[in-house]
Amino acid sequence: MEYKIIAETYSKIESTTKRLEMTDYLVELFHNTPEDVIDKVIYLTQGKLYPDYMGIELGLAEKLAMRGITKATGIKEKTLGEMLKKYGDLGSVAEEAIKKKRQTTLFSFEEEKNLTVEKVYENFEKIAKAEGPGSQDRKIQLLAELLNLAKPIEAKYIVRTVEGKLRLGIADMTILDALSIAYGRTKELRSLVERTYNIHPDLGYIAKKLAKEGIDGVKDIKIELGIPIRAMLAERLPSLEEILAKMGGKAAFEYKYDGMRIQGHVGKDKVWLYSRRLENLTSQFPDVVEALKEAFQGKEGIFDGEAVPVDIHTGELLPFQVVSHRRGRKYEIEKAIEDYPVVLFLFDIIYLDGEDLTSKPYPERRKILERVINPTERVKFAHRIVSSDIGEIREFFNKAIEDGCEGLVAKSIGKESIYRAGAREFLWIKYKRDYKVEMGDTVDLVVVGAFAGKGKRKGTYGALLMAAYNPEKDRFETVCKLGSGFTDEQLAYLPRKFEDLKIENKHPRVWSEMEADYWFVPKVVLEVIGAEITLSPTHTCARDVIEKGTGLAIRFPRFTGRWRDDKSPEEATTTKELIEMYKNQIKKIR
Ligand code: ATP
Repeated sequence: MEYKIIAETYSKIESTTKRLEMTDYLVELFHNTPEDVIDKVIYLTQGKLYPDYMGIELGLAEKLAMRGITKATGIKEKTLGEMLKKYGDLGSVAEEAIKKKRQTTLFSFEEEKNLTVEKVYENFEKIAKAEGPGSQDRKIQLLAELLNLAKPIEAKYIVRTVEGKLRLGIADMTILDALSIAYGRTKELRSLVERTYNIHPDLGYIAKKLAKEGIDGVKDIKIELGIPIRAMLAERLPSLEEILAKMGGKAAFEYKYDGMRIQGHVGKDKVWLYSRRLENLTSQFPDVVEALKEAFQGKEGIFDGEAVPVDIHTGELLPFQVVSHRRGRKYEIEKAIEDYPVVLFLFDIIYLDGEDLTSKPYPERRKILERVINPTERVKFAHRIVSSDIGEIREFFNKAIEDGCEGLVAKSIGKESIYRAGAREFLWIKYKRDYKVEMGDTVDLVVVGAFAGKGKRKGTYGALLMAAYNPEKDRFETVCKLGSGFTDEQLAYLPRKFEDLKIENKHPRVWSEMEADYWFVPKVVLEVIGAEITLSPTHTCARDVIEKGTGLAIRFPRFTGRWRDDKSPEEATTTKELIEMYKNQIKKIR
């Protein structure tokens, strides 16, 4: 197939912003495309060579692309640089450069060989895969070879594509529209291709099946281990009451973990991890790969969950940013795994040992999930309740926030509660908090207990149990577990510092519902800063003042490095002050 046909279609598509017109141009293009190359034509039109999840990217650096143009046209890089300033994109520069070359060389158009789609794709593929010594020169040569054969308009799109900047603005859904018009024009076909795309998001593959085998070919496409499924998403409603009503009075409520969505495919010898946008994450999370293999009891499974970093010392969930540097080199990833291990909280199973589970209702899927996964330190089930009691749900929500989650995801437990790949519907409804209580100031808290350290902190404390002072009741009420902000020296010194204050049981002036490993006489005061103050069903600070059965907690607390030896425990921050801070600093976050 001639590449010119594609280039001319792109040019027409670029001249419109109307989706319907774009669709018409695509339909025309597909009519002109032989079935053997339809997949390639589709990938190229998307500006790539394969579906994204395969992780093979075109993206030749601008400098190299320029050298390719120079090689093909003889125009100096400096001149190209000036042209780039004028035209703004290298594709247009290439178009002009080829035009110039054609004006200045004696060129017989009769003899001209046509550039084919196959040739363009082949060279692009070689460019994408070239690596090692000499690969830069090879890439330049491969591009120059195409440009030598290209007409000006072809050169424009070749260069844009090779740079990874084609950007025609065609959504996948538009391609689906065009495919179903080109190959059938029935409503049935349109919804079939979309459903298929949701469980097997490879447009090239679907198009080829459709072109070669018709509708039956598409019906044959099933969920396949190793190929990501488009994620099911959640709708949103403003209150728990509305959510409960929408769900028919009863539903499952799960923690909405604030991490990274991970879809894990576990096979006999291989594991694949995909992000919500279907990028391949396998190499970034080797720890999750191992953990999933260990926890899974079946042969082949596809799981949906959220990966969240945890504080190894306190076991508390951390903000996801701490693992964002997992995109680095192997060594950095190993280090990150050690410092910030992640826990994968599984909330769904999509496929098991050859069976597609998407059409089973959620309660059944959850049962299967619990049957085939043996929870470990690193793989757990999403925490949840099934309830119709608004008070209980609200308390669960507060607990979720205190535990470092964003809120809750309500899930329908009705017969219709299938796994709707790629859809945002009311089978899942998210409920996030609409305010945030930022801590503008530090607080001085009293150490009332401690938790034994694990791993690197073996022999010392993993975290201290901290309390505020309530002068009316003359007692110390717990507000957080403090494990961050200490230097290694300070940590090593902690057990000695508290040795003389150790007591067998909780001090009578301490009100705690947490069971610490060690209890102390309340005496030492530390300065602490946190991200925010949240409502807490666990901690006793200001219990029942703002909400019945609920106290206040400090989220993500950190030691500032200041021991407040100048303060007696009764001079620590009071529960009343914390209530004031909580009330004064509420900020809307939606
Ligand atoms: P948001 O920014 O609110 O997370 P979003 O557009 O990323 O929105 P939504 O569909 O609105 O995604 O919310 C669902 C997201 O919440 C999922 O993609 C997943 O990453 C995350 N999540 C955390 N815990 C759960 C859970 N228990 N069940 C489903 N999704 C969960």
